[in-house]
Amino acid sequence: MATVAFEGLAIGGQRIASADGKTAPVYEPATGEILAQVAQATAADVDKAVKTAHARFSDGKWKQMRTRERGQILQRIANLIREKAEMLAQIESKNGGKPISAARGEIGAVANTFEYYAGAVNKIHGQTIPGNANGTLMTFREALGVCALIVPWNFPLVIAGWKIAPALAMGNTVIVKPASVTPLSALALADLALEAGLPEGAFNVITGSGSVAGKALVTHPLVRKISFTGSTEVGVGVMQQAAGSIKRVSLELGGKSANIIFGDANLDTCIESSLFSVYDNAGQDCCSRSRFLVERPIFDEFVERFVNRTKTMKVGNPADEQTEMGPLITPQHRESVINYMNIGDGEGAKRLCGGEIPGGDLAEGNYLTPAVYVNVNSGMRIMQEEIFGPVVCIMPFDGETEAIQFANDSAYGLSGSLWTRDIGRALRVARAVETGMLSVNSSSSVHIEAPFGGMKESGLGREQGMTALEHYSEYKSVFIAND
Ligand code: NAP
Ligand code: MG
Repeated sequence: MATVAFEGLAIGGQRIASADGKTAPVYEPATGEILAQVAQATAADVDKAVKTAHARFSDGKWKQMRTRERGQILQRIANLIREKAEMLAQIESKNGGKPISAARGEIGAVANTFEYYAGAVNKIHGQTIPGNANGTLMTFREALGVCALIVPWNFPLVIAGWKIAPALAMGNTVIVKPASVTPLSALALADLALEAGLPEGAFNVITGSGSVAGKALVTHPLVRKISFTGSTEVGVGVMQQAAGSIKRVSLELGGKSANIIFGDANLDTCIESSLFSVYDNAGQDCCSRSRFLVERPIFDEFVERFVNRTKTMKVGNPADEQTEMGPLITPQHRESVINYMNIGDGEGAKRLCGGEIPGGDLAEGNYLTPAVYVNVNSGMRIMQEEIFGPVVCIMPFDGETEAIQFANDSAYGLSGSLWTRDIGRALRVARAVETGMLSVNSSSSVHIEAPFGGMKESGLGREQGMTALEHYSEYKSVFIAND
């Protein structure tokens, strides 16, 4: 048997074992094989990482570096990500079960994120404000201190990048807590950041469980900010625990986004795009449009064409260039998706295709074929709860008002799409849907230049764009009297 690599915690520029030497395996979802043994941080390791990050913040080596130089280091990280893109894409594809073509796209996006914030470093600043003639009133934008960045498994490096880059750009130091099942790419990025010249201890990675390492970060008195992406359930607990020391909190949580398709939509484009809007990353996407609302006159035609195309989706090994959908992240997660399908069956919904476990070459992986449900209504659990798998519910609507009402009949409000060629209607519906992001005649929610985040129970705060920088800094007002 091949020896499995050991991956240590990344603290202060070193890769080290945890205090008690504990490790846990991480697996390849396509085969069930062990990819690496990863250190499991204890509360003592978290304390060490936080104190290291705090010391680096306080000594000013990063925070007080000339902003132009800080930007250059972030740009060098972007360049190194591009240089090592294939290595990083292989990690993301193997560990996350992502089709290699998709993983390559994600790594490109991570480089773009660092590049965007490299350019932003010296373009965010305070103001002088007209106030009292007897003095000068001004504001400064101050870094917060140690930021704890808690990341889920579905887009491990993309989401880590959305947090690390703006946090570092503002002069903070960071501790990343990747998901237990996908820690490898964040560790590789920490190595690249050192190579790019980032001062040791400015970017640390703590691997280990949410209940031990995550909790220790959230409750540590020297952590000033928590940026959490994950489930709404865990997010609620993070917010409650952070309240104890008034930590700044941003939350990017779950979704149950609507894909609203009007009768005048260009169905050829819409069907192809909608397929990926729900099955991308095997449906394990917070922005997944898992509720399709289709105007009644085209409902039957849309469903027939969508089901036919769903049946041709290439589910297979992520390493294969032709694969459109890889396995789900873990056997347990596949169980939970199947359980939701059983709930849907019990609620009277009708499955038109998919939801099967493939055999043959794919039998060892956590594969599941994409499933389409009709005969659904807003009262059903499969229409309200985030399934986080390749399962879509399609429901008819009559007219604009009903479309908006159905779209908003959700505790979530993260993303969504709208298909129509009527510009007036596009604007009216886009304004009325309670969601943080909406794309018209498109399924793309992610633009590094624009704010990303949710309304209602989908979250608090925004990532990406210049807006993200506000969540990693605060204002200080200074008044200087004329003497
Ligand atoms: P999760 O179970 O909530 O975990 C997210 C992260 O929190 C993981 O690193 C996890 O560590 C950690 N964690 C767990 N318990 C914790 C605790 N008590 N204190 C501190 N940290 C803790 O979410 P997931 O299963 O990884 O990801 C799926 C969810 O993320 C979905 O609901 C999805 O919608 C959401 N998501 C949202 C966005 C967005 O931008 N809105 C993007 C992607 C995903 P462990 O891995 O060790 O449990
Ligand atoms: Mg989880």
